[in-house]
Amino acid sequence: MRYWPARNEDVWEMAKQHPKQIDWYSVLGASPNDGLQELKQKYQKLVLLYHPDKQGLDVAPGDADQRLQRFIEVDQAWKILSNAETKREYDLQLRAQELKQSWPVDAQVSLEDMDWDSDTQSYTYGCRCGGEFIIGTEEMEEEAIVCCDTCSLSIEIKRTA
Ligand SMILES: [Zn+2]
Repeated sequence: MRYWPARNEDVWEMAKQHPKQIDWYSVLGASPNDGLQELKQKYQKLVLLYHPDKQGLDVAPGDADQRLQRFIEVDQAWKILSNAETKREYDLQLRAQELKQSWPVDAQVSLEDMDWDSDTQSYTYGCRCGGEFIIGTEEMEEEAIVCCDTCSLSIEIKRTA
């Protein structure tokens, strides 16, 4: 039997808070494996390309806005990735997102639909593989993600008012 949290709780919290993060690495045309030196080179190249002072007079107004937007993103990406602490935080978020993708949520279930087991003080719900989703009352907050005790599916449990 496997209980929530089966995965790193903090990482999950972060993933929930930032559902649609900008991919700062791809903003710089970089990958998470790039070192600081590589990131810096890529940043400097893009900043020169998109810097508002470097735009020629022949750039259309719409283009100029887009370039400014890119410049702001590139600058923001570098601020996050060049600082060891914010980079670490961001890398954790990325990992959480990957986890979310590799542990697909199979269904949303409300707590009322689950079976109550008074012996173990937990709620259970049958998985289509024949296994079970189990969550103890103490683990249940407003919502929770629980993985099957047999397969890799998980369900999102919501407490309905
Ligand atoms: Zn299952």
